[in-house]
Amino acid sequence: MNFDPNLAWNNDAMATVVHESTHAVVDAVRIGRPISYGDNEVAAYVAETLFKINKGIQFNKTGPVASPLFALTSSVVGSGTNNPPFNIDQKKGFSLRVAILAVYKQMAASQGKSVPATVMPLGIP
Ligand SMILES: [Zn+2]
Repeated sequence: MNFDPNLAWNNDAMATVVHESTHAVVDAVRIGRPISYGDNEVAAYVAETLFKINKGIQFNKTGPVASPLFALTSSVVGSGTNNPPFNIDQKKGFSLRVAILAVYKQMAASQGKSVPATVMPLGIP
């Protein structure tokens, strides 16, 4: 993972660092046990959004990922605890994963590509 040393350290940049750092942690703790792309993205999106909520940063609440993302992170924030591990609603997590993967499939299709089947499996093995 490389970050531009000239990166402007604004809220979006810091949120991106949280997102990418979450991927790095997932990769580090799951060596030899790959995680599905969708689950990896759910973890990173949730971490990034919780960071934004805790910092009071406004974030986009429109688009296909926004609704399930906001539903999931709101349930974490509304759980009344500041101490991890947080309870993640599995149904809301699944909805977010489906939305993220649908967006990535659409993006790939718009570029004349497809998402490899090995990227799409659902669930953490
Ligand atoms: Zn990501």
